[in-house]
Amino acid sequence: MDCITCGLEAGYNRVIVDTMEEAEIGGFCLRCEKAEFGNSLDRGYWTRDGKCALCERDGFYAMPKWEAGAEADEDAVVCTVDYDVTDDTVRLCDEHYYAILNYEPDPRSLDPPSNRRSGD
Ligand SMILES: [Zn+2]
Ligand SMILES: [Zn+2]
Repeated sequence: MDCITCGLEAGYNRVIVDTMEEAEIGGFCLRCEKAEFGNSLDRGYWTRDGKCALCERDGFYAMPKWEAGAEADEDAVVCTVDYDVTDDTVRLCDEHYYAILNYEPDPRSLDPPSNRRSGD
């Protein structure tokens, strides 16, 4: 699943779910989450009453996090990844969703601090 912002493979970070259509729209990769929200989503600094995390409008777009789990089968433990949309899931209104969708991050700002050393 591709990230809605940068278009690269989003990995298992977050899914964007249209709660009206109950459809997965795309992913949201960790780099874009950090660029857009920093650690705020993990810390839970958002409104939890079904409204947009950033304003008072209805939160039509949910951004649940993939959760890794494990299911014990008869003779094997199967690792699973899944997500739930609950009342505690961070949500965005259409306006803030489109703001993220159309945000074009500077690729340089997404690179982790370089380990390159000068002087070889
Ligand atoms: Zn991204
Ligand atoms: Zn909003």
